[in-house]
Amino acid sequence: MHTQSLPQLQSPATQTSPRRVKYLTSLDQIAGISDEDRELLKKVSERYVFRANDYYLRLIDWTDPKDPIKQLIIPRKEELNDWGKLDASNEAAVTVEPGVQHKYKDTVLLLCNEVCGAYCRYCFRKRLFMNDNEEVSKDVTQGLAYIRQHPEVSNVLLTGGDPLIMGTRRLREIISALREIDHVKIIRIGSKMPAFNPFRILDDPDLQAMFREHSTPDKRIYLMCHFDHPRELTPEARAGIAKLLECGVICVNQCPIIRGINDDPQTLATLFREFSYIGCPQYYVFQGRPTAGNEPFEVPIVEGWRIFSQALVDESGLAGRARFSMSHASGKVEIQSVDERFIYLRYHRSKYPENNGRFFVCKRNDHAYWLDHLELAEGSYVPKGVEFAQKSPAAPRVAAPDPTPGRAVPQSPRIETSRASKAGGLVAAGFTLIELLVVISIIVLLIGMLAPALSSARKTAGMVRELAAIRQVGSAFTMYAQDNKSKLLPGYLRGSWAKPARRTFIVHESATSASEDGRLFGETIRPYPWRLMPYLDYARPALVLDRTLRTTIEDLSSDRTQAVNFQAAFSRHPTFGMNTTYVGGDAHRGGFYRPSYSRWGTFVVDKLESVIMPSKLMIFASSRGVRSNSGGQKVPGFHRLEGPWHATPTSNSVPAFIPWLAPGRFDAALPTTTFGHLDFRHFGKATTVTFDGHAETLDLDQLNDMRRWYNQATAANGHPR
Ligand code: SF4
Repeated sequence: MHTQSLPQLQSPATQTSPRRVKYLTSLDQIAGISDEDRELLKKVSERYVFRANDYYLRLIDWTDPKDPIKQLIIPRKEELNDWGKLDASNEAAVTVEPGVQHKYKDTVLLLCNEVCGAYCRYCFRKRLFMNDNEEVSKDVTQGLAYIRQHPEVSNVLLTGGDPLIMGTRRLREIISALREIDHVKIIRIGSKMPAFNPFRILDDPDLQAMFREHSTPDKRIYLMCHFDHPRELTPEARAGIAKLLECGVICVNQCPIIRGINDDPQTLATLFREFSYIGCPQYYVFQGRPTAGNEPFEVPIVEGWRIFSQALVDESGLAGRARFSMSHASGKVEIQSVDERFIYLRYHRSKYPENNGRFFVCKRNDHAYWLDHLELAEGSYVPKGVEFAQKSPAAPRVAAPDPTPGRAVPQSPRIETSRASKAGGLVAAGFTLIELLVVISIIVLLIGMLAPALSSARKTAGMVRELAAIRQVGSAFTMYAQDNKSKLLPGYLRGSWAKPARRTFIVHESATSASEDGRLFGETIRPYPWRLMPYLDYARPALVLDRTLRTTIEDLSSDRTQAVNFQAAFSRHPTFGMNTTYVGGDAHRGGFYRPSYSRWGTFVVDKLESVIMPSKLMIFASSRGVRSNSGGQKVPGFHRLEGPWHATPTSNSVPAFIPWLAPGRFDAALPTTTFGHLDFRHFGKATTVTFDGHAETLDLDQLNDMRRWYNQATAANGHPR
């Protein structure tokens, strides 16, 4: 990462008159470009317009040919490569009026301006800056009328262009008009002005007053900032964000992964971290749209996922709350994970309601830049509105040559089927009895050989399905924490251990009612899977893969009188068990509080940000247990996993680690408690998911590694930090 010190700009505290930045629209005004490059780049700027300003240009280190700020703002000859489409996510298809886009039921975009504080070379809306563009409407009267007529619209995004480049008077008119529409609750402003020209915020008291007036405790204004690189976060930019926060505006940051600008985990991690410090956490990281002119800036999906997930590894929950998403024509698709064979995706929002919240799987393709370039995996949900890449076509058959005109076509000897059938099938068709027996034996042999292969393929398919499901449950679990002040769901809470004095584990305000003896009741005491349902968008298959059980639950759910039973049934028999002893806490084992371990820090992880090694610490695994009414029969699903155990330490000793079983002694007939209720149902392995969303199958030996269970473990033998 660059550590170049920035030119000293005027301190906002001592400044008295507005500081004006100078906008530049000709490459002739840029001294840092050589004459030779200038002529070449002028051709680029004739196609994709150039605009910058003197404040932002001062951030460039001209001695570094790969300077990220320079790449962001100065044209490059590769932009002329023939690649991509001008409207890569087909915004035209959701444009309902000039300057009005309506894609998701509750959200409308008002494109109210077609100018920005500078032009990012990788912009996906560069078509708006072209001369013949009519997609933006400076007169938003029609847009406002459209919103008034649509009571389902609660969320309006002002965009363009950059709305903050407009004068405050005009911006105030638009925002005041929106505030008069009762059903509009959230106003978002998409802006890169805090990066391109923070003085626009710092030096305009009218703008600040307008924000104070209209970003109220009941209805906030959100500023969707756009910083791509930590070097854009100058003291002035920090002061600009601080001023916005002071005016009651909620700030979040979002940016794409851009080649040459932020395409390495360290840069991205610094960006996430710095913005979490200043109260502007990262919201989305976008996969770049395959837009015309953007080839030099694009990063393939799989590489983008690697960069994004590595950037999250050591970050706190707040710094790492971003989602990696694609704004596809069909909706907003999160890239949830990638493994050797597949890419796992999920719709946050979709133009088509049936896609909403749906999880789907594509075959891994390291060269794909966009959803349409991927091939859907067999058995996956098929999203509406996506034209996936097709399998490579089979080799075309060689066509029989046309017969030479005028000559007879030689005929194959004809099989007289009628005669064959009359005379008794194959024997009559030319097979002797011996030959027939040989054919039958070969068929039997082939069936014998293929049956295990087919059964193995079925088992593999089941494993892949379960990996996808456990990944989904894992992300629902961490999403819950992200939405609840970083607090994790309790692992196994029965009330008696969760006394108010130790309430750090209680995750929901509604669960604070306590009886006289200090026991807690309420929502929280329901076991965890039911609590995850909203985060799974009620995708029950993710929790319960057993079809019979699922049908029973579905039946119960349709009978309102059984609602309580339904929840209980659902909660008791998920397919996946949770690492309750060490994550979230386990009342049964005293996991909420163990004074004897206090000198090694928190025994149980109760907050997302406390997780030390998110790629190691396991949340869920495939499990089974013995249901009380099953007559001792083991059934899939048990909501609590008990990891290898720590024996209580004597005064100064470290706790001893007790594995469930010595390696090689796993026996499926043993009680499930012998190995913590884990179910090694996939070729002797259990499916697992860790805090970073990584799902894999692990065997008993691998799961005897305490670092998978215990946040403080520094070694496989469970030695605490
Ligand atoms: S600020 Fe946004 S709209 Fe403007 S050029 Fe950059 S990416 Fe495009």
